[in-house]
Amino acid sequence: MKERFMENMTVKDVIEALKKTKTVLLPVGGTEQHGWHLPLSTDAIYGYSLAKEASRITGCVVAPILNYSHSYGTLAGTTNISPDTLKRVIVDICFSLIRQGFESVIIVLGHGEPSSIYAAEDAVSLLQESKRAKVVLFADFSASLRVKEMIGDEEDGHSGKGETSTIMYLKPELVRKEKPFDPQERWWIKTVAKIHQTGKWWQDKKMRLRRVPLEEIEKKVKEAEQKHFPVKYGIFGNPTQAKREVGEAYLEDKVKVLVNLIEELEENWSKCQ
Ligand SMILES: [Zn+2]
Repeated sequence: MKERFMENMTVKDVIEALKKTKTVLLPVGGTEQHGWHLPLSTDAIYGYSLAKEASRITGCVVAPILNYSHSYGTLAGTTNISPDTLKRVIVDICFSLIRQGFESVIIVLGHGEPSSIYAAEDAVSLLQESKRAKVVLFADFSASLRVKEMIGDEEDGHSGKGETSTIMYLKPELVRKEKPFDPQERWWIKTVAKIHQTGKWWQDKKMRLRRVPLEEIEKKVKEAEQKHFPVKYGIFGNPTQAKREVGEAYLEDKVKVLVNLIEELEENWSKCQ
């Protein structure tokens, strides 16, 4: 087994590892509401597992997970850092990894909320400017064709069939037996997604592209929430339909994509050295 998990390594282990690989993965999760049946660490479990599996196959190093990010969820347990703080923390950790001798850093996002993706994208742009290492973002949450077929026609999203299946596969002991959800809450997730889509960029008077300030998006989200009813579960999809096999297939497919990225990156980087 080629796995190299930094949290279990010593100084000597890292020195030895750097003779074999120059690639490190930084998983980023979150502490976020996932209904009443999934743990707050759902995105962390997924992101860390994905990175660890890719390390087992390729031998690259996995840095300990960063377990806070940003969510628009308002339910208990959701613990945020602002997107700006997230960006800075990612930049600091990556610079520290690069200083140790890593030449490729892949930020592996386990949490797919746009505000966190934008923060990670901004961090990558800053890091790329330094040109000291290759830094890329892995933020792929789309289901492959076979997983889509397994999920079926129904609409699925946050804490629904797909995500519940993934945790049933990775940490079945943490999935609660009762999986209450309210199909009416679909509108909520859709509204937030729409706000994100329309609010990603705006042009200032000089026609420069700017990001919508976080406070403006938060205001819009709050207004939408007040117009309807308070969200109780925050689930999009039907978690009672979840199946371990769906989660297994989803993870397997994502690992393949990540491993391809790692191999491509290592090949291209050594070519331009
Ligand atoms: Zn999630």
